[in-house]
Amino acid sequence: MKFGFIMEFICCLLVLISVINVQCCDFDLVSREDWHADPPTDVEKMSNPVPFVIIHHSFMPPACYSAEDCEKSMKKMQEMHQITNGWNDVGYSFAVGGDGRAYEGRGWFNVGAHAPTYNNKSIGICIIGDWRTELPPPQQLSTVLKLINFGVRKGYIAKDYTLHGHRQVRNGTECPGNALLEEISTWEHFSPEAEMYFPPPPK
Ligand SMILES: [Zn+2]
Repeated sequence: MKFGFIMEFICCLLVLISVINVQCCDFDLVSREDWHADPPTDVEKMSNPVPFVIIHHSFMPPACYSAEDCEKSMKKMQEMHQITNGWNDVGYSFAVGGDGRAYEGRGWFNVGAHAPTYNNKSIGICIIGDWRTELPPPQQLSTVLKLINFGVRKGYIAKDYTLHGHRQVRNGTECPGNALLEEISTWEHFSPEAEMYFPPPPK
């Protein structure tokens, strides 16, 4: 009787642990394994929590709206960064698709290749698509915010982090596009002040 109770208790505990593990977050986070990423050729560790979040758009590949297409976009970006550019891995820490899922790139703990001078102190999030004139769908934007908040809750991103669009910290890029930059400029942690600030080109 007592043994049965203990077994039942252990069983419940195991179920609970597995549920917590699977439901890490209030959004779908697709692991590298799940989108069939190739391994990185090298990894450089970052120290967390990081003080910055940098937002990008992919421009190319274009927006994707299904799990299948977004996984293809991840493969494409990794190929462009790793094979064409000769980098260690896909450059971004994470990417978010129009399917509303977040895809693990270099992740929370490894230095990215997305914004020189900020790579070792930021999480770089690519919002897959070309957002110069159009906005990403609401589920894509809300996943970006959930991903950032998850990173803050876990202590990977500083509570008082600063959010910038890529163009604010690098000359000569339109990224993350006028429409998206305007959108993120309304987000709580956005700062117009950056080490280098390049105002949006006139519309
Ligand atoms: Zn960018």
